[in-house]
Amino acid sequence: MIDIQGVSKTYMERDSGTFMAIDNVSFSIWKGEFVSILGPSGCGKSTLLKLIAGLEQTETGKIEVLGKPIHGPGTDRIVVFQEHTLFPWLTVLENVSFGLKQRGMKKKERYERAMEQIKLVHLSKFADRYPHELSGGMKQRAAIARALVMDPDILLMDEPFAALDEQTRLLLHKELEEIWMKTRKTILFITHNIREAVLLSDRVLVMSTRPGRIKKEYEIQAARPRN
Ligand code: ADP
Ligand code: ADP
Repeated sequence: MIDIQGVSKTYMERDSGTFMAIDNVSFSIWKGEFVSILGPSGCGKSTLLKLIAGLEQTETGKIEVLGKPIHGPGTDRIVVFQEHTLFPWLTVLENVSFGLKQRGMKKKERYERAMEQIKLVHLSKFADRYPHELSGGMKQRAAIARALVMDPDILLMDEPFAALDEQTRLLLHKELEEIWMKTRKTILFITHNIREAVLLSDRVLVMSTRPGRIKKEYEIQAARPRN
């Protein structure tokens, strides 16, 4: 599904020239897999995700999705960020259907599709609310619905629950698990929380800091049925 080979990324530093944020990273993700990238703050997780999303350019190596090299961002790879990025002037329904509108889908159909996804994240009663009327957890649910509605090949999640309180985070873990069971989406999930990585994913790739490399890989034996 997604193939990353020998990818590196160098950044300029204010005083000391350049440094390698990502050094020669290679891995593959299979269709329907839920993979976490785990590592301390600053190890290059977000950088790696941005490279895969096409929001940053790689200097070396290749990133392929379904056998094709990526060229910039695409709706085959959609990111859910740590801080929700909903349009504040649109309701939940309008936010979720926004991308479908860009695709030229008719209003009735896009609202039906959007409502399906909104139901999946348990926000049906809040479809006509604006982001500022929602709790942090609800905003992240809406952001997940907005990503899923585009039916991406891979859902990229950059510490999506890191800004939430513990109780909300546990609830969202359960809900993401449900969503994964229903949709079997391929998910790449970034976190610095080892419990979260082990709880949610099939496989955990552990990154080390400076330079950012994948140093270990663990298969998680889930108690629940997979595949
Ligand atoms: P993580 O997501 O694991 O916290 P990041 O990918 O955000 O790590 O950052 C990795 C390293 O690259 C950090 O040292 C960070 O300061 C640096 N970095 C990230 N983005 C930039 C940028 N645009 N310019 C320069 N340095 C950056
Ligand atoms: P309508 O057809 O009644 O305008 P739409 O479904 O087209 O409704 O739009 C839903 C909402 O999204 C509206 O409030 C509209 O103003 C807003 N909207 C549509 N396109 C954009 C855009 N490109 N940028 C910001 N807001 C938009």
